[in-house]
Amino acid sequence: MKLIDAHVHLSDADYAGHIDEIIGDAKNAGVVALVTNSMDLKTCQNDLKLAEKFHELVFPALGIHPWNVNMIGENELEETLDLIQKEANVVKAIGEIGLDGKYETVWEKQMLVFDRMLRLAETLDLPAIIHSRGTTEKIVEMLPSYNVKRVLLHWFSYPMKSLFKAVDAGYFITEGPPATYSSGIREVVANVPLTNFMTETDGPVTYWKHPFDGQLTKPSYIRKVVEAVAEIKKMPAEAVSEQIAKNFEYFFRIKLT
Ligand SMILES: [Zn+2]
Repeated sequence: MKLIDAHVHLSDADYAGHIDEIIGDAKNAGVVALVTNSMDLKTCQNDLKLAEKFHELVFPALGIHPWNVNMIGENELEETLDLIQKEANVVKAIGEIGLDGKYETVWEKQMLVFDRMLRLAETLDLPAIIHSRGTTEKIVEMLPSYNVKRVLLHWFSYPMKSLFKAVDAGYFITEGPPATYSSGIREVVANVPLTNFMTETDGPVTYWKHPFDGQLTKPSYIRKVVEAVAEIKKMPAEAVSEQIAKNFEYFFRIKLT
């Protein structure tokens, strides 16, 4: 079974010193591609290094996360945009970018950074990987005013009407470990066509419930996610993983070996 982790943060401090172990775990588990999402300039630079070191397995998505917009100076935004442009031949997506409803105090800055990143995705014809906690409706309304052709709403949770709009617009969504235990996420999985779906771990998150029980997230968790999706969709796990691998190749324009 070819497994895909379309959204993980390999440059997160929690993974420091564990990268070889994480890559080994991915290979043993049959994970054939990991898209490492950056959070700021420093993690952009590190994700590029990881993608170079583990090429054919690790692919970089570069951007500034809405949680970090308040910590960056004006220069960091420009430097990050320049870096993405300079590395456009190896960058596979702009991410993780988006808007977070819990950080309303920095709303204007979130909007500014998100807008600049979406404009860059347009210019470079790259997909956008989007964080939309509490802002999904707004983002799904905003996106048609941009010419971003490939959109991924990661860890889509609600509202369901935005899911249908997103699917109609041809967007993709990813789900991870909560697909095994969260009734809300299982409902999303039940309602999204498999042709618009990919798997993620969003590692190194450590607060997953049973059967993951708060351990440092490993790429091998993807197998349990695929099995949960197969159960919900009443399909063989092999067929689910095959469709996800196809979606991955189409969405990121990466040929799996
Ligand atoms: Zn993430």
